Amino acid sequence: MSELTARVALVTGGTRGIGLATARALAQAGATVVVTGRDADRAEAVAKEFGGHGLGLDVADFDAVGATVKQVTAAHGGLDVLVANAGIMESGLLGMLRADDVRRTLDVNVAGAVAAVQAAGRAMARKRRSADGTERRGGSIVLLASVVGTYGAAGQSVYAASKAAVAALARSAARELGGRGIRVNAVAPGVIRTDLTASLPAEVLDRQAAAAALGRLGDPDEVADVIRFLAGDAARYVTGQVLGVDGGLVP
Ligand code: NAD
Repeated sequence: MSELTARVALVTGGTRGIGLATARALAQAGATVVVTGRDADRAEAVAKEFGGHGLGLDVADFDAVGATVKQVTAAHGGLDVLVANAGIMESGLLGMLRADDVRRTLDVNVAGAVAAVQAAGRAMARKRRSADGTERRGGSIVLLASVVGTYGAAGQSVYAASKAAVAALARSAARELGGRGIRVNAVAPGVIRTDLTASLPAEVLDRQAAAAALGRLGDPDEVADVIRFLAGDAARYVTGQVLGVDGGLVP
């Protein structure tokens, strides 16, 4: 039997990058995986590849996040793992920022994660019977912070602030939800090769690779493996942590 057999997992923004790698890793570990993306058709098509399910969801719509978690819970008999992965990174020097850009980043990265944690917390607190007949209560929530939330980065003030908020959300939610058997952790990736970082100038990427003790950038599956660990019972006494997955980055 695999580590996540009979568990139900939801990955937001799971149609590419770290989210997709995570969805594959959780499915490989035996979970029933639902991925969401802004485009429902694409989410469904992507999910087919690993035998999962896809739904359309814009995480900036707070109420829609709650409704989607309810829908997943009703369809699959509960929710055991949430990976609140959907996120955007908009670059811009402080002097160039417009109110709308600031709000959009905070709506997606912070409010979207809050909505997901709130809804998943409610679902996971309930007693339910898993597909293998065992009675379960509790679950594991993993959020996507970033090294930038700790160290900051010129030209990424709002993104950095949003990721610092996500780390604080993980620590705080862990305290609120621990009594119900729900663990909440975050991973803080360094620079990972995905569409999100593809637009960064080559010299920035080279500098980040050189600043990592391992001397290279990361790949999505290297983050996904750590998320899978946090999702499963191997991490059953780990909560409220923000775990760096950055190749030993010292910016
Ligand atoms: P990506 O751009 O490849 O994927 C992000 C996913 O989120 C996409 O599927 C996108 O469609 C989805 N998304 C964006 N806005 C959304 C919205 N409003 N509603 C629903 N889905 C939405 O990026 P990635 O690198 O895979 O990033 C995944 C997460 O990891 C993000 O939260 C990001 O901030 C974080 N992160 C990435 C890195 C990195 O170096 N790539 C480093 C640290 C943290």
